[in-house]
Amino acid sequence: MKTYLVERTVPLTHLVPSPYKGELEGRCAFCFCETSKGFPLKKSVSEAFTDYSELHGSQVVCPHCYYFLKEPKFRKSCWAISQNTAVFLKKSEVVKYIEGPPQPPYAVYVTKTFKKHGWIRMMFRGVNYSRERIVVGYDTELVWFPRTWFLEVLELVRTAVAKGVSKKRLYSRTLTPRDLEKIGLDLYESLKSIWGGLDYELAVYLA
Ligand SMILES: [Zn+2]
Repeated sequence: MKTYLVERTVPLTHLVPSPYKGELEGRCAFCFCETSKGFPLKKSVSEAFTDYSELHGSQVVCPHCYYFLKEPKFRKSCWAISQNTAVFLKKSEVVKYIEGPPQPPYAVYVTKTFKKHGWIRMMFRGVNYSRERIVVGYDTELVWFPRTWFLEVLELVRTAVAKGVSKKRLYSRTLTPRDLEKIGLDLYESLKSIWGGLDYELAVYLA
């Protein structure tokens, strides 16, 4: 039980080793962990940084969060983290991490903007401890779903795309009569029944 509790509290950024080592002592503004190898907050973030409302009241950044701030690929690409390793992915490579999730704890991030510090909001709630009930970071959102459910949604979306419906209209949930002709009423009704949430949007993006 104790191990379980300890594991549950590992912040996202601590799942991978950091190549950096500072000298500042204190509590990290991002993950709230104590560090003696931290960096000053002001020198860690750029002038364009706007996510101060997500931070704890501290002026210290631990080496792990510093790595996430300094490595642009955490903002400019999709990624998956497991077993002490961060893998930067193309959008098309993300689905395999949902089809066959790695050994927990792990995390998966998908970006559409290629510029947000989405990892900050994933710090605690964005780490997966299950292979069946999954959370994925999607820019600054978190999307939860049962794995098999998401794969079914993805399959429906892929079928609609294969039949000639544009992703743009799938996103906007406004199919034309011509789209309906292409996909048939059954698929249309199936899509309508699952297109309410962010999981659907994520599936359209990844399809
Ligand atoms: Zn930290």
